[in-house]
Amino acid sequence: MTARIIDGKAIAADIRGEVKDAATKLREQGIVPGLATVLVGEDPASHKYVSMKRKACAEAGIESYHHELSKDATQDEVLDLVTKLGEDDKVHGILVQLPLPNHIDEETILNAVPLSKDVDGFHPLNIGALAMKDRDGAFIPCTPNGVIELLDRSGTTIEGANAVVLGRSNIVGMPVSLLLVKRNATVTICHSRTKDLGKVTGAADILIAAIGRAHFVKADMVKPGATVIDVGTNMIDDATRKSGRRLVGDVDYDAAKEVAGAITPVPGGVGPMTIAMLLQNTVRSAQRQPVKA
Ligand code: NAP
Repeated sequence: MTARIIDGKAIAADIRGEVKDAATKLREQGIVPGLATVLVGEDPASHKYVSMKRKACAEAGIESYHHELSKDATQDEVLDLVTKLGEDDKVHGILVQLPLPNHIDEETILNAVPLSKDVDGFHPLNIGALAMKDRDGAFIPCTPNGVIELLDRSGTTIEGANAVVLGRSNIVGMPVSLLLVKRNATVTICHSRTKDLGKVTGAADILIAAIGRAHFVKADMVKPGATVIDVGTNMIDDATRKSGRRLVGDVDYDAAKEVAGAITPVPGGVGPMTIAMLLQNTVRSAQRQPVKA
């Protein structure tokens, strides 16, 4: 039987609609939700990501305040800017686009984002809260939160499920694993030293792939009927495309969808969720702001 396709584009559109409604209500109360974006340097991919995020903000009724610094900006200049944005009442979320140039210490900059404006959820204290029982951080990181939303909104039962996460990175694998534990899944985290990977993944009711290797997860590594969420984004050569390249996930999608019960495509699965969750975090931050008399 062919798997049900989990349509991340449609689910993200629903969330963006909910965010827009919430932003409209806030504006009626005199609060304009605002996201500050900080871009350092000339990396074309970073410029593209920030412009996509700003466009999504505009569509959702969120004001964006963009700040661009040259690739030679000093660490103190970036730190000053982030500190000022932290003190600016009209800014409810601060997004520092990563990666930063090599001469700037990423951790120092991310630590300067106030917890209450850490809409990317990368502040160490926000990540730390994920690892603690009965603690809620101010924000959950966007891609991991998007994975959980995809599971919830596609009707996948997390509680009691055997969940296997491929990858243990700070931005995807580890936070997703912690979120699944919080939701009472039994979680196994796999990485490059895991032995007999196929045996481990083959027992997963929920399989999350976040390793960054094209088509790594083969059909025989998937348990029949499992829900498969593919976080990977990999470019491969494809002579049939005008660009000569094509975006694929970490899962061998065409074969795995004949075994899985539900599966996300790439593109159109996890990708659209990341921006939707950033918008949701920003509007939630604005909702926490006390209404002025
Ligand atoms: P990362 O920091 O490079 O981490 C990769 C993880 O995969 C590491 O934990 C690594 O293990 C593990 N790994 C690598 N090769 C493996 C193998 N052969 N078997 C088992 N585990 C292996 O990557 P990331 O930042 O988490 O990103 C993962 C993927 O998600 C990338 O394709 C990235 O582009 C994509 N991504 C997508 C979105 C989105 O919005 N859709 C957002 C973020 C990331 P070790 O720890 O042992 O090295």
